[in-house]
Amino acid sequence: MCGIIGVRGRTDAAEIAHWGLYALQHRGQESAGIVGVDDTGHARSVRALGLVSDGIDREQLAPLTGSVAIGHTRYSTAGATTLENVQPLLVQFRGGHIGLGHNGNITNASELRVALEDRGSIFSSTNDTEVLVHRLAMSTATQPEEQLADALRGVEGAYCLVVVIGRTLLAARDPHGWRPLVMGRFPSNNGHGAAGGIVFASETCALDMVGARYEREVAPGEIIAVDDTGIRSSFPLPAAPLHRCVFEHVYFSRPDSIVFGTSVEAARRALGQRLARECPTPGAELVFSVPDSSNSAALGYAEESGLPFEFALIRNHYVGRTFIQPTQAGRDAKVKVKYNAVRDLLEGKKVVMVDDSIVRGTTTRGLVTMVRHAGAREVHMRVSSAPITGPCYYGIDTPNRSELIAAQLSVDEIAADLGVDSLGYLSLDGMLAAVPSGPGGFCDACFSGRYPTPAPVDSAKLRFGCGN
Ligand code: AMP
Repeated sequence: MCGIIGVRGRTDAAEIAHWGLYALQHRGQESAGIVGVDDTGHARSVRALGLVSDGIDREQLAPLTGSVAIGHTRYSTAGATTLENVQPLLVQFRGGHIGLGHNGNITNASELRVALEDRGSIFSSTNDTEVLVHRLAMSTATQPEEQLADALRGVEGAYCLVVVIGRTLLAARDPHGWRPLVMGRFPSNNGHGAAGGIVFASETCALDMVGARYEREVAPGEIIAVDDTGIRSSFPLPAAPLHRCVFEHVYFSRPDSIVFGTSVEAARRALGQRLARECPTPGAELVFSVPDSSNSAALGYAEESGLPFEFALIRNHYVGRTFIQPTQAGRDAKVKVKYNAVRDLLEGKKVVMVDDSIVRGTTTRGLVTMVRHAGAREVHMRVSSAPITGPCYYGIDTPNRSELIAAQLSVDEIAADLGVDSLGYLSLDGMLAAVPSGPGGFCDACFSGRYPTPAPVDSAKLRFGCGN
């Protein structure tokens, strides 16, 4: 999973992209990068491992002048956490430069890479995204959007892209619409002396951050080009069934975003309310969340059940998302560093702990121990999604089946393994019905096993080598 942003038509485009990346930090914490194109068409990049605030400072941005920029925060599904895998990628070709940022996972990247290598391509990174710049460079079309369309024909899987070719900014979304991508507009009289401007971003919270107005989603299968002559939209790829990722609403996106046209906050509240109806906890005295991602679902549970909502777990905000740690040792240590329990609220109580999902069980196991040490009498775990039983091939780094607790154990066995007094998951049908835009058009493969495409020939994270 990753966050992407593209800006055109503002004199401070790279600075705006930088601000926007702060709002997309939750989508990827392994690296950050910005490519800026100046008014003579010269492209420069800033790339760093780590958080936006650690890796990119305003001084580094100074050379990135001009009114076109793209940015990226990375959470890898293919390729190691190394500098050559930091995006946006920036390459030179006979037509100038290509800058490209990708959110998603290309399911046939292995085949595409082998085909390119057979023709002599030399790859400089180990991610799935680089095949796109090679394919772009091979196009003989003259318009940037046609070059991108050429590159995308035959590419399978999930992609939202921001691309710069020359001074043209492009945004594209795969025909299944797995990942979110929105378009916003800066007010034409914005007080900065600049006349309007366009921004594309993974989530609307980034538009709010930079002061742009949400206009619409980039539609599945759409390519939008923005240059000095205006905005052009095209749908050059064959239409396909919608497969928007339901997990964006369950966990990944921020609740202050509108994703797939629906408020994430409203979706999470509804998931929590539905969970309370499906899995009540008679005799419980309070409900608490595993902050921050399950706050809204826990509030929904509390509203529906009539139980008080309390902040019984305190999160250390200087530690990132637990799961996004690429190694298990990192994940184990981070649960303790990241959370602490409030004894004053928990002592002697029968409590309901709501989380949005259980993947390996690392977080729940650690928290249950912590909550019991803080004196809770009974701990009842409620999960606002269905059991995750399969890996994701479309951009979320959900591990393979052997690591997924719900793929290995029954619900009763999981409860015993995690040490809870009871465990209740939201049903799959309940989960899909709770998202306000309705059950149609979602990908629920990691919950249901209904994969909309064949599994990739190789889904190992380091399938293209591990880099340096
Ligand atoms: P685990 O500890 O492996 O069971 O992971 C579950 C925790 O990680 C929950 O608190 C979720 O909020 C969070 N989480 C679930 N799925 C993901 C994901 N794909 N990436 C990052 N975090 C996740």
